[in-house]
Amino acid sequence: MLFDELEDDTETIASVLVPVAVPTAYTYRVPAGCHVVSGTIVKVPLGTREVVGAVWDVQPDAGISPKKLKQISRVFDATPPIDAELRRFVDWVAGWTLAAPGMVLRMVLRSEEALEPEAPVPGVRRIEGQEPDRKTPARARVLATMEDGFAWTKSGLAHAAGVSASVIDGLIQQGVLEVVEMPAALPLPKPQTDYLKVDLTPTQKVAADGIRASFDKGASVSLIDGVTGSGKTEVYFEAIAEALDRGRQALILVPEIALTEQFLRRFEQRFGVYPAEWHSEITPKNRARVWRGVASGDVRVVIGARSSLFLPFLELGLIVVDEEHDGAFKQDDRVPYSARDMAVVRGHISKFPVVLASATPSVESRVNAEQGRYNRFVLPDRASGAALPDLHAVDMRQKGPERGRWIAPPLLNAIRQAYADGAQTLLFLNRRGYAPLTLCRTCGHRFQCPHCSAWLVEHRFQKRLTCHHCGHFEKVPDACPSCSSTDSLVACGPGVERIAEEVSDLFPQARTLVLSSDIQGGPDRLRREMKVVEEGGADIVIGTQLVAKGHNFPKMRLVGVIDADLGLAHGDPRAAEKTFQLLAQVTGRAGRVTGGGAGYLQTYAPDHPVIRALMSADRDAFYSAEIDARRAAGLPPFGRMAAIIISGPDKAFTEGYARAVLRTAPVDAAVTILGPAEAALAMVRGRHRYRLLALAPRNVDLQGYLRSWLSVAPRPMKGLRVQIDIDPQHFM
Ligand code: ADP
Ligand code: ZN
Ligand code: ZN
Repeated sequence: MLFDELEDDTETIASVLVPVAVPTAYTYRVPAGCHVVSGTIVKVPLGTREVVGAVWDVQPDAGISPKKLKQISRVFDATPPIDAELRRFVDWVAGWTLAAPGMVLRMVLRSEEALEPEAPVPGVRRIEGQEPDRKTPARARVLATMEDGFAWTKSGLAHAAGVSASVIDGLIQQGVLEVVEMPAALPLPKPQTDYLKVDLTPTQKVAADGIRASFDKGASVSLIDGVTGSGKTEVYFEAIAEALDRGRQALILVPEIALTEQFLRRFEQRFGVYPAEWHSEITPKNRARVWRGVASGDVRVVIGARSSLFLPFLELGLIVVDEEHDGAFKQDDRVPYSARDMAVVRGHISKFPVVLASATPSVESRVNAEQGRYNRFVLPDRASGAALPDLHAVDMRQKGPERGRWIAPPLLNAIRQAYADGAQTLLFLNRRGYAPLTLCRTCGHRFQCPHCSAWLVEHRFQKRLTCHHCGHFEKVPDACPSCSSTDSLVACGPGVERIAEEVSDLFPQARTLVLSSDIQGGPDRLRREMKVVEEGGADIVIGTQLVAKGHNFPKMRLVGVIDADLGLAHGDPRAAEKTFQLLAQVTGRAGRVTGGGAGYLQTYAPDHPVIRALMSADRDAFYSAEIDARRAAGLPPFGRMAAIIISGPDKAFTEGYARAVLRTAPVDAAVTILGPAEAALAMVRGRHRYRLLALAPRNVDLQGYLRSWLSVAPRPMKGLRVQIDIDPQHFM
């Protein structure tokens, strides 16, 4: 039959998307007797190695002579094929970011271990009717322990019965126990949606009901816009319950550092079990388990960092993006995608609701809500009834501290009072280390990174000068490397370590703690310290932005911001928005449970619109001013923006190439190209960086424009690299 012949013919070759930066899928021969469909995960030879890829919805190239075709070397048939929706999502992300689709697929295939079924572990089971020749007390204990008839691991059984392994071996030898294979992981207990019912406040209920109703409408986006402590988490837990009740899986995306033990416990209190976790710290074994469990449907809820967006869920029915405004959802990795925006896309493709939550939503999400694309639910008050903190600006021009000190008298008095009352204080400074700059008093020499255009940051505990961009470090020298003077080095400006020193001077009795991502002892130590703060084991906490989010410190009453102006000086169009968000979040740590919270913002620009907006607690006024300014300037979300970062080892050569790229830009009246200009970080890891910026109105297909531009631009060579960043968030 002709039809059969055709089918046979198409099955002998297949397109396979491989995890490398090439524009499309490659054609491979399908081994005889193998059956593959779109989405089948396979192993194929590529150059000198073998890679894992997936059969893709691309017409295979039938023109290649079969002799030249390489053959698929393995079909992973223990794993279901990547479904059509996830494949569409991969293609969509690639099209949006201008990344190679294979590089996006790579994010789906993060765990090769997951593609194999998990090896069973050996166990032992009682053989019906068989008795040992002699029933010693130890043997009797083993048999009693096994009365339930289940299989046990040897070590588990020995432990439970309180015997040595040799007793069990003896029983095996006698034919009383048999060795069996046990699944390595037990089936997971499922979250129970009615495990703990919370009485929602009336405004929470409006939001929860609205979101529940949105499940009937297919794709939709809801923004929970609620002040810190208003119960946004409670509300989206209701959305998760709804998804689970409808037989669907749910994903909670959080900025990685907000993924805390405290949050997991909270989920457990509500649903009776822990959710599955997915982030950079989990072990390969757990990674494989979560991947498999998500694909089989065994795992119902995942809480994860941005990369969990690419997990192969069997029946995903909800994505929650908590702290949706957070810049950490976009990172400068090989595929620079915004996890928040791509979550919305994934919901759209698979027709399920997406919930965004924040106390300080992104301007983008506010505009989407204003224009009716997103539902918006406002929670204006804290659930505990506690008032939002009282905020004060400390004018450093008039009330600044004495030389060499960083805590001004008004903040100092407030700390004294809080300490006397036994309440916790958080001093916030978004700068790691002791001092951001070290210089020589005699000759003016400044310590700079040899590989980056950045000052070296002194870390006094480690006695090192460190570059925060490339990790380069050197010992703090005894003498100036330039003029050889000794005792001439001075630390300029404060980092958290220096604030901690000042606090120890001022409050020698107080229990102080520094919380910073570079803490020695890594994430585990950090988690322990967070718990110490949570339980009231510290009086004064000095922290970087790590403490601004995710964690609830019930005893914290006072928040002091050492330098409220820090984020405002940037040439970044989002500087005002980001500073507003960060400071609102960090001051929102105060008095969440007890009320009576206060915040002090030390600033040299108390009249800056951001500081004024924070003081007046008028979020809406801030957003409308910011939105108007963006609209007037045609900046996102009213215009489209893309950065083209060109980098290379030689400065002049890189700049010359950037100019050559510019000259090939297609003429289009709607698109404005700025640059090339040196990037804010002009050199990183020895690479010089230039930036071109493309701006266009919203209705322009900027990606299409960039694609045609790149197709005619000169090829990068001699170590040059071109990176496209659609809707850049970090202007570094
Ligand atoms: P958000 O996510 O908006 O910061 P949370 O959901 O963390 O707020 O809520 C803040 C605190 O208030 C938490 O301790 C939470 O358990 C409590 N809470 C929130 N809603 C309620 C409610 N309806 N009833 C009782 N406690 C609540
Ligand atoms: Zn010197
Ligand atoms: Zn460096």
